Amino acid sequence: MKVMISYPPLKGSGSPMLTQNRQFQWYHVPSFIYPLVPAMAATLLKNNGFDVIWNDCIAERRNKDDFFKIIDAERPDIIAFETKTPVVKQHWAIIDHIKTKYPSCETVLMGDHVTALPQESMAMSKVDYVITGGDYDFLLLGIAMWKRNRTALPAGIWYREDEDIRNTGQFDLSGDLNTLPFIDRRLTKAHLYGEKWKKRSPFFYTLAGRDCPWAKCTFCAWTTTFPKFRVRTPESVLNEIGILISDYGVKEIFDDTGTFPSGGWLRKFCEGMIERGYNKEILFSCNMRYGYLNSELLGMMKKAGFRKLKMGLESANQKTLDILKKGVKVEQIITESKLISRADIDIQLTVMVGYPWETRDDVQRTLDLAGILMRSGSAEMLQATVVVPYPGTPLYQSAIEQGWFSIDPSDYGRYDMREPILKTPDMSSEDVMKMCRGLYQRFLTPRYILRHVGKIRGWEDMSYVARGAKAVIGHLLDFKKRRQGEHNL
Ligand code: SF4
Repeated sequence: MKVMISYPPLKGSGSPMLTQNRQFQWYHVPSFIYPLVPAMAATLLKNNGFDVIWNDCIAERRNKDDFFKIIDAERPDIIAFETKTPVVKQHWAIIDHIKTKYPSCETVLMGDHVTALPQESMAMSKVDYVITGGDYDFLLLGIAMWKRNRTALPAGIWYREDEDIRNTGQFDLSGDLNTLPFIDRRLTKAHLYGEKWKKRSPFFYTLAGRDCPWAKCTFCAWTTTFPKFRVRTPESVLNEIGILISDYGVKEIFDDTGTFPSGGWLRKFCEGMIERGYNKEILFSCNMRYGYLNSELLGMMKKAGFRKLKMGLESANQKTLDILKKGVKVEQIITESKLISRADIDIQLTVMVGYPWETRDDVQRTLDLAGILMRSGSAEMLQATVVVPYPGTPLYQSAIEQGWFSIDPSDYGRYDMREPILKTPDMSSEDVMKMCRGLYQRFLTPRYILRHVGKIRGWEDMSYVARGAKAVIGHLLDFKKRRQGEHNL
C-alpha cells in the first residue's frame, strides 16, 4: 500500500510557513522548516512495510501541474496533508479535486486547525480522515494499518462510514516517543530544510519532546495539539545526534521542541554532548522559555555546544504576560537575557503586537524593551509578528466571546498575518503593521551593525551576517506586501 505525505503548492503572496507550530506567514525569503512529526510518520510507515512517498512541493518549489503529475505517476492509496487555519480552505479544494479525479485515493488532514474543528473539515470537504492531536505519526500508522489489516483505529480519528461521520473519541497522546525509530532523513529529503540563520551545513533538525512542559500560553497553537508534555530520554536524543554526525556529517542542529527540556534532563544531555565529543562537531540551538535556566545550566550548555536559544518575549507589559499565562515577569526577561548573553549564547527573541487590550503606549513599551535588549547585545535576533488567535486556543475563544475580531472569524484566509484581525483600543490596522515594522527599524542602528561586523571571524560569520541582513529586508518586504485574495485549485 502506498502512502504519500504531501505539502501541495498553495496560492498566496510568498512561501507558506505552516509546519512545526510556526505562526503562519507568507515568506518573501523563506526558511523551509523540517516537518518533524510528518517525517517521523513517513519513517514509521516505511518501517511497517508501507511504500512511502515524501512530496513537499513547497520546499521543492513545485507547482500545481507538478503536484498532479506526481499523483498521476504514483497513484497513492492514502495522501496526508498537514494544514493550518489560513490555508485549510485551499486544502479542502485540493482534497475535493483529488477525490473527484481519483475516488479510491483516501485523504487525511492533520494539524492544529482540524484538531480544534474536526467536524468542520469533514463537512466542508470530501476528506476521508481527520487526525486530531499532534501524534500524526502514531495515528497515520493507525489509519494505514486499519486499511491494510482491519486493526482498530486509534483514539482521535474522524472518519466516514457510509454516509455518516464518525470518530474514535478524544485523542490521548499515549504513544511512547522512545519507541519511535530515528527519522529516515533520506526518505524525507532532510537536505531541503534549514533556517536562514544557520552558520554551518549540513543543518538538521531534531525533536526531543512534544511539545512544551509549560503548555499554558493562551495564544499557542501547539497546546491544542499537545496539551501534555512527553520527552525522549537524553540518551535517545544523543544517539540520534551521533548518527546524524557519523552518517550525514551534520555540523549544526536545531531542536524544534516547543520548549527544550530543562533541569536534570538538560544536565544529562549536556554531559553526554561533552563526553561523546559532539560539542566539538556541531553547533546546537533550541527553543527555550524564561524561568527555566540558571547560570550553572547555561555554563554547561555553552560547553556542550549550544549556540542559540529562541525565546518568547511576547510583550513588555506584565498585564499582557499575565493574560497570556506566560508565567514570567518582565524583570525576569531582562535579567535572564543578560545571563544568557553573558554565557555567550545568542538569543532570538519573538515579540507580538496587536493584542486586543494593548494600547499604543503598551506597544511602545514592548518596542523599547526589544530595542534595548537588541542594542545592548542581550539579544542577537528578533522576530516580530502580529498576534493571531488560532481556533482551538483560549485566545480564539476569548476573541469570540469578547467580540475582539475585526473580521468574520470564519474568513480563514485572513489569519495569515498580512493584517491584524483583532481590534485594538487606539490603533488602526495600519498603525499596528507600522509598529511591527518599526521594531526591525528600531534595532538596526549603526551600533548594532558595528557589533555584528566586529564579531566576524571568518567566512562562516560573514555569510551568517549577510544572510541575516537579507532576512531582515525580507521581513520588511513581507509586511509591506499587499494582501492577495485566496485562490482555489
Ligand atoms: S512556552 Fe512557548 S511552546 Fe510553551 S506554551 Fe508558551 S508559547 Fe507555547
